[in-house]
Amino acid sequence: MNKKYALAIHGGAGTLVKGLMTPKKEAQYKAALNNALEKGYAILENKGSAMDAVEAAVKALEDSPLFNAGKGSVFTNEGTHEMDASIMDGKTLAAGAVSLITGIKNPVSLARDIMEKSDHVFLAGEGAMRFAKSLDYSIESPEYFYDALRYQQWQEIKDSDSFQLDHSVKKDSKFGTVGAVACDKNGTIAAATSTGGMTNKRWGRVGDSPMIGAGNYANNKTCAVSCTGSGEFFIRGVVAYDVSCLMEYKGLSLKKAASEVINKRVLDIGGDGGLIAVDTNGNIAMPFNTEGMYRAYKTSEGEIEVKIYKE
Ligand code: ASP
Repeated sequence: MNKKYALAIHGGAGTLVKGLMTPKKEAQYKAALNNALEKGYAILENKGSAMDAVEAAVKALEDSPLFNAGKGSVFTNEGTHEMDASIMDGKTLAAGAVSLITGIKNPVSLARDIMEKSDHVFLAGEGAMRFAKSLDYSIESPEYFYDALRYQQWQEIKDSDSFQLDHSVKKDSKFGTVGAVACDKNGTIAAATSTGGMTNKRWGRVGDSPMIGAGNYANNKTCAVSCTGSGEFFIRGVVAYDVSCLMEYKGLSLKKAASEVINKRVLDIGGDGGLIAVDTNGNIAMPFNTEGMYRAYKTSEGEIEVKIYKE
């Protein structure tokens, strides 16, 4: 039980260029990342599980209006909020995922309940809402999820056919999908991811975030991964599982596997974004091929980092 333990989180990757954000906004982001990091890390420190740590960290990020998940999720083409989330336990390979849900304050907790309290892995839309109601989840009003900047982003493109990453646009409008990966004192790893998806999405569009293997994956044989970026490409690249495969079948280290996928394979098919990953020794990798990624990590060896831009 004397192993290194570690937690890493992200709040989305995108066009995050130094100087575009006010120092005040920057400080707000760092404080929100720090708050989520400490919430998850405290659980690991108290001998809690990686699953509990990633859920707690993601809940804290969902509760912040700064990120595109839970409160502050982007607007769909119909002016609603449709959220996706997933969670996976690297020890048992148990997983839960949910998609196209509305009014749920913490989608990551519903994903975990699907894993633990249903016989299924993935529930979507109305059925997922009925499952939530059967567990007495309260349904928040649309006002709870409203954010003025997100509304403005939607207004700018709502009459067009385009949809976009909420944090990959000009100006000071960069927010993102959130995620966490952790390695606990027992050397078990877990990953969780939560998102409002892409601004102006329609037709029940689902991205990579709730898809096990694409936006989220954990396996004690290899690594735990949470992704952010252009979901359509992350689905086609089966990105999170690809990192795991490179480690398992090719013997690459966590850092090499994560970098190969983000800086080569995803780019080769035209995708952009990043990921956070941890292995069972508490090593961390956080590659991204965009200008920046909201990210942070903390380990039991005293390493701590909270960053936004490329360095
Ligand atoms: N990957 C997410 C999606 O496509 C978007 C993001 O990372 O912000 O839904």
